[in-house]
Amino acid sequence: MSAYENEIKQAVRTIENWPDEGVMFRDIMPLLQDAHIFRKLIDSFVHRYQKETVDAVAAIDARGFILGAPLAYELGVPLVPVRKKGKLPYETVSQSYKLEYGEAEIELHTDALKAGDNVVVMDDLIATGGTMLAACELIKKLDANVLEVAAIIDLPDLKGSERLRDAGFNIYSICQFD
Ligand code: AMP
Repeated sequence: MSAYENEIKQAVRTIENWPDEGVMFRDIMPLLQDAHIFRKLIDSFVHRYQKETVDAVAAIDARGFILGAPLAYELGVPLVPVRKKGKLPYETVSQSYKLEYGEAEIELHTDALKAGDNVVVMDDLIATGGTMLAACELIKKLDANVLEVAAIIDLPDLKGSERLRDAGFNIYSICQFD
């Protein structure tokens, strides 16, 4: 792990047993509170994608918005918010996915992407991979292409990144927690 990746990892705060007993919540708020680290974080995503053909950044509700917006701005491409069900006012495509208890659903406006667009999908963290996979399904429903899914943190023990890889998606994460 590089010094920079380690700096990011060290700045993630772990809250035990939140929001539920047994969960180790990886809190990225300290990364946002330190302007120097926040700039480094966004710059690292910009650096990774600035030489690629990226047509849009899809950012997942809600912490993905915080990262996706400055990335889209710097790359000079559209920002496409992937929202929880019932938040988007225009015509949508939707995808449901399993949570630990129950189901969730996310949506995209039908005009959010054009067929063939190359899209980077951004969230703060990959756990079981269900959210990212559902977002990728939405992008595919609009005949666009997922260039890569990107997150600050991967939790490899929960096998989300493995699921995403098995489904054929490229993944980039800055740090991992057991
Ligand atoms: P999953 O769909 O299981 O990959 O969960 C990923 C989504 O849930 C992301 O939007 C994360 O923000 C959130 N999430 C899941 N587990 C954690 C965790 N341990 N710490 C912080 N956020 C989490």
